[in-house]
Amino acid sequence: MIDISVGQYRYSAYLEAVITEVLQAIRHCRRCVVLTGAGISAESGVPTFRGDDGLWNKFRPEELATVDAFMANSKLVWEWYNWRRDVMDTVQPNAGHYALRDFAEYFENFTLITQNVDGLHTRAGSENVLELHGNINRNKCLDCNREYIESDEIKPDKIPSCTYCGGKIRPDVVWFGEMLDPQVIQKAISESEKADLFFSIGTSALVHPAASLPSGAKRTGAILIEVNPEITPLSHLADFRLQSTAGGVLPQIVRGLQESA
Ligand code: NAD
Ligand code: ZN
Repeated sequence: MIDISVGQYRYSAYLEAVITEVLQAIRHCRRCVVLTGAGISAESGVPTFRGDDGLWNKFRPEELATVDAFMANSKLVWEWYNWRRDVMDTVQPNAGHYALRDFAEYFENFTLITQNVDGLHTRAGSENVLELHGNINRNKCLDCNREYIESDEIKPDKIPSCTYCGGKIRPDVVWFGEMLDPQVIQKAISESEKADLFFSIGTSALVHPAASLPSGAKRTGAILIEVNPEITPLSHLADFRLQSTAGGVLPQIVRGLQESA
């Protein structure tokens, strides 16, 4: 018991020390880019894909999140998305989302890029979020991409068709094997390359092209900071690793920025 509490004490003292170093290192940074992944929404109760309670443990992605799966069994895919929408309807943004909303005011230029489709950054008050993988609350036509913003729930037994081309209505998210919106990814790449500070938060850094943004920013001179309780393929590149939860450390960083403003 004593060992454990000493270990925890030592660890939190170590984390405090790293946060102090981070605040010192970033005090002259002007262009900040943040990339978030499913981990930042985990504390809101949205399951990640690769954690212990990850959705992929219950469903195989290739059965659900591909165009082929949708063509083969659109009812199953819509059942899954309705379930995910129901989960997301019950959750709220957490301290990490709110801290990132506040980050914006401490930098001349601030870009928030997310791989999440849950819309929680916008609900927390962040503006102009680059949603690389779309948004689960929007629909679009499978064939002509026309956007459908309808509040009616999609009934898996009676999937509506596009009024223009007759194509099936699907969630407006990027599925495996699909291209990202070229304008959104281009903007994400160019902001990352211009950044002098890059935070990678709550992402396993496995899904490309998003996973290439932090290394791209680092290559063009940005300080790279990772916030993740686990080690990731990016960890060895990071200038600072905050091995903790987003909701735990990001509010502390905001407080530090406030104090030095
Ligand atoms: P991922 O599930 O692969 O990885 C999540 C990462 O978050 C892990 O490295 C984990 O260690 C870390 N993490 C867990 N709890 C954390 C916390 N409290 N604070 C900080 N980090 C924490 O997620 P990914 O890298 O985003 O890739 C998964 C893909 O799945 C993305 O393309 C995304 O679109 C999609 N996805 C989205 C949501 C969502 O919208 N909330 C949820 C699940 C998956
Ligand atoms: Zn259409």
